[in-house]
Amino acid sequence: MASAAEKAPAIASSGSGVVLMFPLPFQGHLNPMLQLADVLRSRGFAITVFHAAFNIPDPERAGGCRFVPVGSEVPVGDLIPTGSDADFAGAILRINERLQGPFQDALREVLLEEEEEGKAPRPVCLVVDSNFRGMQAVAQGFGVPTLVLRTGGAACLVAYMSFHALCDKGVLPPPPSQDQSQLDMPLDDLPPLLLRDMVFSATTPHETMSTCLERILESARSSSGVIVNTFADLEGAELRKIADGVSAPVFAIGPLHRISSGADSSLLIQDRSCLDWLDKQEAGSVLYVSFGSLASMNQEELVETAWGLANSGAPFLWVIRPDLVQGSQKVSTLPGGFEEETRGRGMVVSWAPQQEVLEHSSVGGFWTHNGWNSTLESICEGVPMICRPHFADQMINARYVQEVWRTGFELEGKLERAKIERAVRKLVFEEEGLEMKRRAKDLKNKARRCIEKGGSSEIAIDSLVNCIMSF
Ligand code: UDP
Repeated sequence: MASAAEKAPAIASSGSGVVLMFPLPFQGHLNPMLQLADVLRSRGFAITVFHAAFNIPDPERAGGCRFVPVGSEVPVGDLIPTGSDADFAGAILRINERLQGPFQDALREVLLEEEEEGKAPRPVCLVVDSNFRGMQAVAQGFGVPTLVLRTGGAACLVAYMSFHALCDKGVLPPPPSQDQSQLDMPLDDLPPLLLRDMVFSATTPHETMSTCLERILESARSSSGVIVNTFADLEGAELRKIADGVSAPVFAIGPLHRISSGADSSLLIQDRSCLDWLDKQEAGSVLYVSFGSLASMNQEELVETAWGLANSGAPFLWVIRPDLVQGSQKVSTLPGGFEEETRGRGMVVSWAPQQEVLEHSSVGGFWTHNGWNSTLESICEGVPMICRPHFADQMINARYVQEVWRTGFELEGKLERAKIERAVRKLVFEEEGLEMKRRAKDLKNKARRCIEKGGSSEIAIDSLVNCIMSF
């Protein structure tokens, strides 16, 4: 079955009316939702963003959207997963449960404004994060059509679609005592994925994961369309599988960060001084190291990472978030001697303007946790990767980087300085790494073409606008 983007006539459209949005309040979900807001605004829609009372992006910087707070009185303690036992899926289920009631009130109020003549234009539909089945159900209760935004890749959603069949077959969950090597069993229906790629988190109970994935699929299937932040040349086969599986139109409109004109939804202050530092480095020489907004490590891993980077001899820019090290809320202490050893060759910041860093000509490699945004941002700039996935969809993304796009490789097992040193050298200095870089440049060109006039993503955005105007 063809995706909506392939089937739809290429009619460039612009819209009118208000599109309502409700992002999941985490950095990797906020960014693509607000980038989509920006794209839809450029096509003539006004945007109202419903938002939980935590992790709120600065409305001034997020650009031109109206923000409506939801559940300001709701306690948030266990809604923000942190530390070594963070349960992201559990937090998502709790957010749905606690914000459903407050969202019902907030949405009712926004819809009533429409009735008061001249006060507000008509809300056309709600775009919800695909983890927000609860909010989608509320909107449907009011008769508001819904679209779902998948902030992960298409391959990830295909894998999620197979999760319950793998449970029925007894493949998932793997027995706790299972020999670790058995986790390397290939999944025949999901090549190139291995069983280990479907064990999404060591800290989330299987039942919680199962419910969470069931809700994601339910949200896609009961929507009027699924928007995916990817592009046809990257994940064409996977997009077709989604279209077959969800029986709703699929809009592959990514990479959103390249299409949006730059909505800034960063929750942390970006240290832009690293761009000046990059200006002084040799072209293609710097390894950028960042593990996104949620992944964490222990102090021992921090020390091994520091010495691995120092010993590799490569210039590096390393993001150490204030809460990167488990149990710490301030920038962690780096080992003695590290600063002297790497002076002039290494820079550490607490948060970077990542897209600009990856775009910078001095950056030659990215050691990443493979969150989908980071993976896509790296692909779009032709930067090869060292993959160190932590949880959720990151293992799937890493597997695709290594086996399908072949623009990087996984750094497996315990983090040890010698292993890190070898991996960095392989990526930055050796022929194998240079080949990965060539393939990465190829993908970068494909990413550029899909957003040009007549490109697959541009056509998909037209189809999406037409779809919204049909409500
Ligand atoms: N990011 C950033 N500065 C940093 C690290 C990350 O702006 O120092 C942004 C990055 O560009 C990406 C997002 O944060 O858009 C992280 O999303 P991703 O899906 O990669 O990972 P998550 O944080 O959801 O695990």
